[in-house]
Amino acid sequence: MLTTAEASQAILAAVRPVATEQVTLEQATGRVLQQKVVAERDQPPFDRVMMDGIALSFAAFDSGQRAFPLQGMQAAGDEVLSLEAGKAIEIMTGASLPDGADCIVPVERITVAEGIATIADDYPAKPRQFIHARGSDHRQGTELLQPGKRISANEIAIIASAGLAELTVACKPAVSVLSTGNELVAAGQPIEPHQVRLSNGPAIVAMLAEHGFDQAKHEHLVDDIETLKTRIAKHLDESSVLVLSGGVSMGKADYVPRVLKELGVEVHFHKISQRPGKPMWFGTGAEGQAVFALPGNPVSTLVCCRQYVVPALYHLSGLPAAAPQFAALTQPVNFAPQLTNFLPVRVLSNAAGGVLALPVPTNTSGDFTALSGTDGYVELAREQEHFPAGSVVPLHRWRL
Ligand code: AMP
Ligand code: MG
Repeated sequence: MLTTAEASQAILAAVRPVATEQVTLEQATGRVLQQKVVAERDQPPFDRVMMDGIALSFAAFDSGQRAFPLQGMQAAGDEVLSLEAGKAIEIMTGASLPDGADCIVPVERITVAEGIATIADDYPAKPRQFIHARGSDHRQGTELLQPGKRISANEIAIIASAGLAELTVACKPAVSVLSTGNELVAAGQPIEPHQVRLSNGPAIVAMLAEHGFDQAKHEHLVDDIETLKTRIAKHLDESSVLVLSGGVSMGKADYVPRVLKELGVEVHFHKISQRPGKPMWFGTGAEGQAVFALPGNPVSTLVCCRQYVVPALYHLSGLPAAAPQFAALTQPVNFAPQLTNFLPVRVLSNAAGGVLALPVPTNTSGDFTALSGTDGYVELAREQEHFPAGSVVPLHRWRL
């Protein structure tokens, strides 16, 4: 049986990167950048005035001149004026520094009468103060963004200022979420006492959407070999990632591994030494489709989805792996050895800035009501049985 680390490695090694596509700037939010973004121009592109006031020559000020005839006015976006000797130009924030000027005096420190600006006696003007020098943020040609960046507002600002109206991003992976089980009935449908509400399908779709993969479609399948075969074959045609839930254990109606095999999906592993989620199955289809078959117990499904499916989607979209996180247990925990335990936790912090994990044990791997209010789960290594309070352990947040 694979360890959790071996299972993660096997998955990342097997998934294929998605194709790329061109989108407009307006469509780019949330997408994964697949090109470099290079500075179109110096930033700022000119010596940018940072105050409303007057622009003059520091040499004139330095020689003792305090009254300056106003030669004209230059606002942001106006063409650049040339300063005449002994004069000043009214200048607005965002304007390009007039030629010949190297000193800005803020409007609050001058008085203007009959076209002459007089600088306050005590004003200590300095050369190049309030001037955001051309190229001081970065030079033209500087690499501002690298492939593999999820595009949010900050990146949109950079891409727009680099002059790009279109850019190359990763295609959104086509994901099919296929829940299985004869006992399951969707919300909104009449239900019998012996039946169970279907929750894994919508929950997987929601988790993927929370991580930016909002194109997953869900279908529920009954535990019937022919139905499973036909429908899974269709989804293998349409999607590059399949996430199944249920039907992977040792029960008589657990047909999923067998059906996948018959459809030519090559098994990479079945079972991971972990709890919950031990029966998890992973394989690849003939065209490289990644096929995850998660155990149906709702806690197992959510943990396996977050632990294995989400990182795989990051990887195939060109996103770097999330940085590892750790937390200290607030109380001792004991587990039977041999299986890695994923224990749901609430994340707290202490006054020293430490990250703490408060265990929120679930009753069974079917008890998913306890998960609401948890922030993620900690990974308790299989080699260890007793974890004293304060043990620092890997933390996996539901949301990265
Ligand atoms: P299975 O892995 O198919 O043996 O399912 C294990 C347990 O999880 C059973 O009690 C199922 O009723 C339950 N289960 C499986 N799939 C779902 C689902 N989509 N929603 C809610 N419960 C499920
Ligand atoms: Mg089942």
